[in-house]
Amino acid sequence: MKTALITGASRGIGLELCRQYAADGWRVFACARNPEQSDELNMLASTHPAQVIIHRLDVGDHAQIGQLAQALADEPIDLLLNNAGIYTGSHAGGTFDDKDYEDWAHAFRINTMATLKMAQTFQLQVRRGGQKTIATISSKMGSIADNSGGGSYMYRSSKAAVNMVIKTLAIDLKPAGIITVALHPGWVKTDMGGPNALISTARSVSGMREVINSLTLADSGKFIAYDGQAVPW
Ligand code: NDP
Repeated sequence: MKTALITGASRGIGLELCRQYAADGWRVFACARNPEQSDELNMLASTHPAQVIIHRLDVGDHAQIGQLAQALADEPIDLLLNNAGIYTGSHAGGTFDDKDYEDWAHAFRINTMATLKMAQTFQLQVRRGGQKTIATISSKMGSIADNSGGGSYMYRSSKAAVNMVIKTLAIDLKPAGIITVALHPGWVKTDMGGPNALISTARSVSGMREVINSLTLADSGKFIAYDGQAVPW
């Protein structure tokens, strides 16, 4: 049985990732910062008790990341999926006039630093997995080449920075046979994406699973959308 560790599993894309990997027969370490608040995640775990194991994890809490890695020290992890993310700022991600620099620092902690911290802390488990993949949900909004809209300073910069983390990890972890990629999930109907978004979580996640499934070491360091298209950095 393959194993995925998925962050931000309480709702949105993370919850759907847990659902689809569990339905496909995987074992899922479903990580959520307040798992007791997600009825849907608890229901999923109760319908797949042997497969979906809930763990408490705030990805901004480095001590908690370390404790979880210790608790899972003997578990091979085929797929580490960094999904947890925030769209922050007092004006929807940070407008030109936004002055909340503490919010910006928090966006970096969750959207950027957590990816490196998770990779550093769980690398031994990933090395032991068969699929040896670290996938991080980034965003086209972190693409410098794609930025024609402006605004969203905090979110855009935190995702652009995580893209560099991912590219650098891909180089550093390639000798260990670990595939590291950035994924764009599309514009998805979730609390973050809003009701006008273009695609469902089901469509986004089935597309990203297909992408992940087809990855080889030659793809490490790529930025790929849910439909398989390359995203410009
Ligand atoms: P949601 O806002 O619906 O869900 C965000 C998830 O991240 C929740 O499970 C939330 O947990 C979790 N989370 C937030 N902060 C933390 C933290 N400190 N520790 C652990 N978990 C945390 O967003 P989406 O599902 O839409 O987004 C998932 C990912 O996809 C994000 O990285 C986002 O940036 C990215 N993305 C989304 C797009 C979209 O259109 N929806 C487009 C492009 C990228 P809790 O319930 O506890 O708050």
